[in-house]
Amino acid sequence: MSEVLVLVDHVDGDVRKTTAELLTLARRIGEPSAVFVGDGFDSAKEYLASYGAEKVYRVESGDVSDYLVAPVAEVLAQLAEKASPAAILVSSSPHGKEIAARLSIKLNSGLITDAVDVRAGGEGVETTQSVFAGGWTVEATVTTGTPIITVKPNSCSPEQAQGAAADEVVDVQISEGARAARITERREKQTSGRPELTEAAIVVSGGRGTAGDFSPVETFADTLGAAVGASRAAVDAGWYPHTSQVGQTGKQVSPQLYVACGISGAIQHRAGMQTSKTIVAVNKDEEAPIFELVDFGVVGDLFTVLPQATEAVKAA
Ligand code: FAD
Repeated sequence: MSEVLVLVDHVDGDVRKTTAELLTLARRIGEPSAVFVGDGFDSAKEYLASYGAEKVYRVESGDVSDYLVAPVAEVLAQLAEKASPAAILVSSSPHGKEIAARLSIKLNSGLITDAVDVRAGGEGVETTQSVFAGGWTVEATVTTGTPIITVKPNSCSPEQAQGAAADEVVDVQISEGARAARITERREKQTSGRPELTEAAIVVSGGRGTAGDFSPVETFADTLGAAVGASRAAVDAGWYPHTSQVGQTGKQVSPQLYVACGISGAIQHRAGMQTSKTIVAVNKDEEAPIFELVDFGVVGDLFTVLPQATEAVKAA
C-alpha cells in the first residue's frame, strides 16, 4: 500500500485536531506517514499512533523550525522524492496553504485546496472541494505528479486506529534560499481558553442583535465547549475582537454546529459559515435572511432564548 504523507500541525508537540482528521482521510487512500517538524515529538507520538500513523518522519533541525514555511516545503519535497507517496495532505490553514503551494511548484505537481473529502477512486485520489467561500462544490482530481491536497478543518470526524508511529529521523538539506526569512521572536497569543475558531466542532456567534452584550453568547458557548465568533457589525462596533470575525473578510469556519445569534445572515457573513454541517439561528425577526439557510431556527430574543438553551444543555 502506498504511503500518504500527512504534515503534522502542532505547537511544541501539542497536536491539533486537524491532524487527526488528515490521518483519518489518509487511511482511505493508503498508509499514513506523519511528517513531524519541530520540537515535542515525544508528546505527539502516542496521539499520532492512535490515529493510525504507521510511520513518523521526524525533522527536529533548528534549520527548519527557526525559519518560516519555505524549509517545511523543502522537507516535504525531499520526502516525497524518496517515498513516492500516493498523496500529501496538509491542513487548509494559511500556513498550510502556503507550504502546499510552494511544494506544488517544487514537485511540479497538481494542488487541490480546501478539500472537504478525500477518497480513493478510479482515477487515483479523488476529492470534493469547497470553493468560492463555500458557494460551490467541485469534484477534483490531480492529473500531474503527486496529489497535494489541503483539507479544511472539520471535514470529517477523526476515527481512531492503532498505528505503529515508528519514527525515522530525517536529515534534510535546506537551501540558502529557504533561509531568507527567519523567525526572530515568538510572542505568546492571548487565549480565551476556548477552542480555536477555525478548528472548533461547535461555534456560537453573536451579531448586532447582542447590542454589545456577548455574555449570553459566551455562556452558551462555554456550556457547549464551543468557540465564539462574531459578525462584522459586532466587530466593527468594537464589541468583539477582529480575530473572531466570521465571513468573507474574516475567518471561514466549517463546524459540525454553527449557532448564529442576532445575526441577519448577510451574504458576506454566510461566506464564512455556510459549509457548517448544522446551522441554527436565533433571531427576533422571522423575515431575517439567515432563516433561509438554517436547519433549525428560533424566532425570539436572544437574551431570553440563550439563557434557556444554556439551562437545557446543562440539565441534559
Ligand atoms: P445586522 O444585519 O444589523 O443584523 C442584526 C440582526 O439581529 C437582525 O436580523 C435583527 O433582527 C437581529 N436582532 C436584533 N436584536 C435581537 C435580539 N435581541 N435577539 C435576536 N435577534 C436580534 N459581515 C460579516 O459578518 N463578516 C464578514 O466577513 C463581512 N465582510 C464584509 C465584506 C464587505 C466587502 C462588505 C461590504 C460587508 C461585509 N460584511 C461582513 C458586513 C455584512 O454585509 C453585514 O453588514 C453584517 O454581516 C451584518 O452583521 P449582523 O448580522 O450582526 O447585523
